[in-house]
Amino acid sequence: MRVELKGLTYELQGSCRFYGKVPIDIDNVEFCGVEVDTKLKCRHGLQPVRRVAFEGTDTGRRFISCCIEDADRCDFICWYEPEWPMTMKNALQALWKKLDEKEQSMYCEIDSLLNHMLYEKLKAEKEKEDVETEIAEIVAEFEEKLQVMRTTVEKKNKWFMISVSCNVVMLGVLASVFALKT
Ligand SMILES: [Zn+2]
Repeated sequence: MRVELKGLTYELQGSCRFYGKVPIDIDNVEFCGVEVDTKLKCRHGLQPVRRVAFEGTDTGRRFISCCIEDADRCDFICWYEPEWPMTMKNALQALWKKLDEKEQSMYCEIDSLLNHMLYEKLKAEKEKEDVETEIAEIVAEFEEKLQVMRTTVEKKNKWFMISVSCNVVMLGVLASVFALKT
């Protein structure tokens, strides 16, 4: 059923002609702003705004609906045009399907890329861990060898000091003997 209000034609659809699912809309400079040429009000009692549908088989159809932009928007809706002819609906459906497929394929690519990046990150972390373990092992081995060398040097120093002390004593004894003889 159509109604004329101040020269504009509204298409009223069945029993829920003023209420129902409000489709997603798209900015359109040709058809936007508050609809001042109507006495219709939304459920909030507010002046409706002009919108252009951007969803499914209603894409491109003009309508007026609640002026609230967030989730509080009420379900008042009134179409300007009747539903598109079946050929147009089919074409729109095919276009949205193609878009959905493109989106799905894009999401799959993104998922695969993210998985690959995650794998590379884990691989790099594992390699870093391996290198750190290897360095720790080399350092431990070096410290062990250093300790062995220190112990050897300490032993040699000890024996050297003992031998020097013995030689000094021997020289002392020899000197005393020599002194007694003379
Ligand atoms: Zn409203």
